[in-house]
Amino acid sequence: MSGASATAVDIAIVGGGMVGASLALALAGTSKRVLLIEAVAPESNDQPSFDDRTTALGNGSRRVFETLGVWPRLAAHAGTVAEIRVSDAGRAGATRLTASEQGLEALGYVVPNRQLGLALWQQLAAQPSIAIRNPAQLIALQLHADQACLQVSMGNAIGQGGATETVIARVVVAADGAQSLVRAAAGITAEVEDYEQVAVVVHVSTDLPSNGIAYERFTATGPLAVLPLADGRYTVVWTLAPDRAQQVCALDDSAFGAALQQDFGWRIGRITRVGTRASYPLRLSRAESMVGTRAVLVGNAAQSLHPVAGQGFNLGLRDAALLAEILAAAPDPGAPAVLEDYERRRAVDRRGMIGFTDGLVRLFASDHPGVALGRNLGLALFDLAPGAKRALARLSWGFGGDTPRLLRGLPVS
Ligand SMILES: Cc1cc2nc3c(=O)[nH]c(=O)nc-3n(C[C@H](O)[C@H](O)[C@H](O)COP(=O)(O)OP(=O)(O)OC[C@H]3O[C@@H](n4cnc5c(N)ncnc54)[C@H](O)[C@@H]3O)c2cc1C
Repeated sequence: MSGASATAVDIAIVGGGMVGASLALALAGTSKRVLLIEAVAPESNDQPSFDDRTTALGNGSRRVFETLGVWPRLAAHAGTVAEIRVSDAGRAGATRLTASEQGLEALGYVVPNRQLGLALWQQLAAQPSIAIRNPAQLIALQLHADQACLQVSMGNAIGQGGATETVIARVVVAADGAQSLVRAAAGITAEVEDYEQVAVVVHVSTDLPSNGIAYERFTATGPLAVLPLADGRYTVVWTLAPDRAQQVCALDDSAFGAALQQDFGWRIGRITRVGTRASYPLRLSRAESMVGTRAVLVGNAAQSLHPVAGQGFNLGLRDAALLAEILAAAPDPGAPAVLEDYERRRAVDRRGMIGFTDGLVRLFASDHPGVALGRNLGLALFDLAPGAKRALARLSWGFGGDTPRLLRGLPVS
């Protein structure tokens, strides 16, 4: 089946976004032959993973990046979250969580996605053991009991005379995002639920220092997160109904700033400057299974979450960390038992984090008086409950289950 000109590898990773690039790095230095295929150049303005967003990294993700040697490239660009203040707009319920109370250096770190992309890809460039095709796109995939056969179109433009490469792999990893082609080729369906909300993402400057305080405000239209950046600005993730999102994005800077200030209030001071806006429709997408024949899913290809709790990438990074460890140790990394082991060991964290995030969206979306009252009572009680705060701070390390070696500061093999 493999033609004379086919490239043979152990592991083909499709998608070199945040999760796929991290997985490739985790596999560097292992005995496996790894090929990473990414459609868009990491520094391109069109890169869908490393765009203008920022990502809140938990302490577990920082540990993974330290172990992979990426953190020194990120540290100077990371805003430190020393405190999180949560409030319910128009109601009394509020709570705060501080790093010092939890005996932590920080509750998390806010990193621009572009910087994350640069750091990961610079680190990849220093790993001769990882073969890379970029820009190059997976265009067809056949999965057989003993191998995966990939057709890869080289260059930016498909069907414009660019060369095609055939790759034979023992396993193909779907790190190609929520619309995963690999997942579809493997016949794995994804359950998709539209939240009918749009996240408007923007950086703002204000006339007060952030002091490392992050805010999560639950409004009638959805959560509004304001997170401190390393350069003194804030990044805002403002969840709105689709038509309202369209309206605010069309406003000029000063009207946009005024609308945001009205929804958020004055805790961060006066908004003095507003950056470019980008919007993201929000859906929960959950693959019915993380594995198929010679195929395995990580990150958004496996599950894509509402950004309310800033957990999507953190969860995907733990997928990558555990998968790297399991594939590195397996004589045949695509054998069914190996892939089933991965799915089983990721189940607790995956189920827990999806349920936690989705539950939070639904709890705060309800304006039923009983639910609103319970929610406020809950926030007030949470404020008084050190155990509950400790549990929340611990989410930074995952929901439980198997802790990958990289999260414990150990190399994958
Ligand atoms: C507004 C917003 C804010 C967020 N904030 C946070 C946060 O604070 N913290 C957090 O943990 N998470 C956050 N997330 C979630 C996070 O962005 C995702 O979990 C993350 O992007 C998943 O990365 P990924 O690599 O799995 O997928 P993607 O980012 O979708 O990357 C997929 C990659 O695959 C490539 N690709 C696709 N198809 C092909 C193909 N056929 N061939 C080759 N390459 C291909 C794409 O070019 C891309 O580079 C947020 C999400 C949103 C929408």
